[in-house]
Amino acid sequence: MKYFLLAIAVFLFSAEIQAQNFDNYFIDNALRIDYVFSGDAASQTVSLDQLNQLPQWAGRRSNLSQLQWKGNGQIKISDEKSGECIYMDAFSTLFSEWQTTPEAGNVRKSFENTFLVPFPKGKVIIEISLRDKTGKYTSAIKHVVDPNDILIKKKGLKNLPAYTLIHQGGEVSKCVNVAILAEGFKADEMGKFREYAKIACKQIFNHTPFNNLKDKFNFYAIETVSEDSGVSVPREGKWNSTAFHSHFDTFYSDRYLTTTHVKDIHDAIAGIPYAHIIILANTDVYGGGGIFNSYTLTTTGHEGFKPVVVHEFGHSFAGLADEYFYESDVLDNTYSHDVEPWEFNITTLVDFSSKWEKMLKAGTPVPTDVKKGDKYKVGVYEGAGYSAKGIYRPAVDCRMKTNTCKDFCPVCQNAIEQLVKFYTE
Ligand SMILES: [Zn+2]
Repeated sequence: MKYFLLAIAVFLFSAEIQAQNFDNYFIDNALRIDYVFSGDAASQTVSLDQLNQLPQWAGRRSNLSQLQWKGNGQIKISDEKSGECIYMDAFSTLFSEWQTTPEAGNVRKSFENTFLVPFPKGKVIIEISLRDKTGKYTSAIKHVVDPNDILIKKKGLKNLPAYTLIHQGGEVSKCVNVAILAEGFKADEMGKFREYAKIACKQIFNHTPFNNLKDKFNFYAIETVSEDSGVSVPREGKWNSTAFHSHFDTFYSDRYLTTTHVKDIHDAIAGIPYAHIIILANTDVYGGGGIFNSYTLTTTGHEGFKPVVVHEFGHSFAGLADEYFYESDVLDNTYSHDVEPWEFNITTLVDFSSKWEKMLKAGTPVPTDVKKGDKYKVGVYEGAGYSAKGIYRPAVDCRMKTNTCKDFCPVCQNAIEQLVKFYTE
């Protein structure tokens, strides 16, 4: 009986945590925390840069202290008085990708990272933890934030850029809010930008399960103006002055288009309700990049625009891994074959039961022969995450593998659906 009562008490306690009300701890504003991540291949430091207050919270209001995916890093907010975790989120960074490049063996570098969390009512402890090569999360910084601190800078109250709501699924508080930004578009090119933003939105909704979740998304097209038309292409000696200073040749990889000026992105759209970011670059050069809970950046003028914007959104929004592999890819050190990656759509088979094992038809061979792809729509196919060996993907083809595939594989579809439910229910 004693144990039974204890079990009930534990159940009620966890039910209370589950039902934790947003309004108990937060006001309807965002706390934007700017950090600098620095280091090299072997070491990393996270330092606080600036605290900012935005006039609206456009992120999730449910499952506040839970995580859907683990990410390469995590941000945790605890109530200072009780120590209770009141909010968590996961992320990846360009910095952690850079740490796997040869350059990181020779020099230390710093990268901006910005996180949005709901604005706390009382003092909170904020902690950033980073995942190491063994899959363990280690605390990188822990600091107290007092919401009454006069140096928390208020932003987004005036001089907002022009923007249009291009898809409205519902109220800000009940939807995933996505900002689509212009990069390398001059003031007189905004008509063109708005058309590309509508195409990007339409392409996302052309994919399952987004097509069934239209009422869970709001998309905004934000007319962030650049001085020059087009973005920088360093290998051609071309450096343009653009809103977010993006360029190709990130880590010397031709098609990798990114920006390290993360604060400029967030400053430009402060005051507009957003939780996820897609930046559309005005260029016909092929490429793009997508970083989980940071941003998608992709090109508009290339014929690959339509599938690529959805692929990159698969990274930045849904935390999906690349299912492709090339022998010569510069990021081929990304995954240790001895550790289960956190991304749901790839596995090293170290802990396959945490992945899509339940979705396999009875009798599916593990690994699965690609020649049997017709028989096993969901299998365990070798070659993914930039490696031809030791990492496995769920399907022969997927939006996360090629531009020619028509849709996400069933496992990616399942992962996206789970995540949207997590954010909105
Ligand atoms: Zn997939």
